[in-house]
Amino acid sequence: MTNSTNHWLNFIDGQWCDAQRTTDVYDPATGEVFATIASANVDDVNTAVTAARACVNSGVMSDCRPAKRAQLLQRISLEIHKIVDEAAPLLSRENGKTINEAKDEFLMAARYFEYYAGITDKIEGRSIPLGKDYVDFTYYEPVGISAQIVPWNFPVDICARALAPALAAGNAVIVKSPEITPLAMTWLATACQRAGLPNGALSMLNGPGREIGAALASHSDIDQIVFTGSVATGRSILHAAAERAIPSVMELGGKSAAVVFSDADMDQLLSSVRYGIFFNAGQVCSAMSRLLVQRDIYDDVVERVSALAQGLRVGAGKDDADLTPVVSQKQQQQVLQMCDQAVAQGARLVTGGKAPENQDGYFVEATVFADVTPEMSLFTDEVFGPVLAITPFDSEEEAWTLANATDFGLVSGVFTRDLARAMRASKALNAGQVFVNEWFAGGVETPFGGNKLSGFGRERGQEALYSYVNTKNVAIRVSQ
Ligand code: NAD
Repeated sequence: MTNSTNHWLNFIDGQWCDAQRTTDVYDPATGEVFATIASANVDDVNTAVTAARACVNSGVMSDCRPAKRAQLLQRISLEIHKIVDEAAPLLSRENGKTINEAKDEFLMAARYFEYYAGITDKIEGRSIPLGKDYVDFTYYEPVGISAQIVPWNFPVDICARALAPALAAGNAVIVKSPEITPLAMTWLATACQRAGLPNGALSMLNGPGREIGAALASHSDIDQIVFTGSVATGRSILHAAAERAIPSVMELGGKSAAVVFSDADMDQLLSSVRYGIFFNAGQVCSAMSRLLVQRDIYDDVVERVSALAQGLRVGAGKDDADLTPVVSQKQQQQVLQMCDQAVAQGARLVTGGKAPENQDGYFVEATVFADVTPEMSLFTDEVFGPVLAITPFDSEEEAWTLANATDFGLVSGVFTRDLARAMRASKALNAGQVFVNEWFAGGVETPFGGNKLSGFGRERGQEALYSYVNTKNVAIRVSQ
């Protein structure tokens, strides 16, 4: 996967492969290049697809007894556990997150394989009664070659999230890693290799999205595309999918709101704000980027949340800081520009809104804006940084309207002690997931994905598995 000069390789058809060109990988805490990775070309994409097709045609993944595939996934999970300590610092360095957060990400990856290993031998069809003259049943077949394009914010988690169910269902997978954080993911390929995954069942390529991602998405021999990333890229990939009428799963952005009622438990709320918007420097698609607060506690919540933001220790992931850098200079500039725009549009900057003075890397202070109205860009547009927008509301109906007043619908949340109101929220909020009294509640077992511009299809849980299979019905006439 790497040679002694900290140069990393692509994984194609069971082999680690170099390339004629390389991509530099930066440490966002210092802005320095610390490693390089081979940058694939279109020939490499073709080689990976040919290998994946050979794997599919051989039936090595799809025709074996499912219990055998389950054991393979279990072994991958165990191999991931073995590499966590070595691999997590690399993820921390390329992405900026803390080493503990990076470890958690690898453990989450292991958990995906463990969870889907448990389902692999339970992908069962139905028997459908058609009267005495027929026997009818369904079974699930793998789609074939699953092309999976991964973003930089949780590369290991998001890679495993789609890879594990795809392999569980018996597919071959080609992963295109994000060019900003491509290194730690290669450890997943290593874990798969050590666990004995057949050649061609996984290839992992790095390279520019517009060239290598696009070549993979438009390849004439892939059977589905699973994409996690921005809406703009998702749209261009959907055009490629439409050309060939192949299915896709789209996990796009979000602008998710937590609705806080005056009966909310403040400790629960503040701990959710801490992680909801400041974890991973706010670069989380399901971040709590908006807070809608009932007017009678509004000033108090603005004050408490701002104090929380000001108390976070800004620093590098290796130093276990509370608020780590954003991933790149481009991302930093984008976040700061959106803060400037919010001020220009009349939002009240309570704290943050700028880069800290004593840091070399790509840091942004924990930022809180109050009095944000639906007309402002900060209310509707994803920032993908540690920036919280707070808006007051009066009635429950107004809260639901405000929460739903963006083009996104990934997650949503409510903080209240009133169970009946929480249940009303679960119906009223237009999102793929509703959190009650804890942001990011749920896990590998619970379906995740968005409505509206946040995409379609579901990852995680049993639902995800059905993105990786085609249903076949067999109808047999048994009478003369
Ligand atoms: P991005 O869309 O720029 O890139 C995502 C991936 O797509 C990268 O691997 C990139 O190389 C590749 N890519 C870029 N252009 C391509 C093209 N034309 N054809 C094919 N592939 C291409 O997104 P990003 O900057 O990496 O991530 C940030 C965005 O992703 C945010 O909007 C965030 O909300 C979203 N996101 C969503 C989820 C989710 O689960 N819903 C998770 C993480 C990130």
